[in-house]
Amino acid sequence: MLQLRPGCECCDRDLPPDQLGAFICSLECTFCEACTHTVLHGRCRNCGGELLARPRRPTEKLGANPASSVRVHKPQGCGPA
Ligand SMILES: [Zn+2]
Ligand SMILES: [Zn+2]
Repeated sequence: MLQLRPGCECCDRDLPPDQLGAFICSLECTFCEACTHTVLHGRCRNCGGELLARPRRPTEKLGANPASSVRVHKPQGCGPA
């Protein structure tokens, strides 16, 4: 099951599990749409994997299958490589 991390690793923006706008790699490094496109250009800075849109988990499924509440954030952000 996907972890559905709660925020962008670069800018710490909230990424609700039931909304569009989150992008993940196969290891679930998680980024917002802006960072994915303008900073990372679709490739994960951590592992080199491709970033794809994270599927939403419907609100009614979150009760039994809660999203991760563990924030993963780089304090230095994801500036130009
Ligand atoms: Zn971001
Ligand atoms: Zn990654």
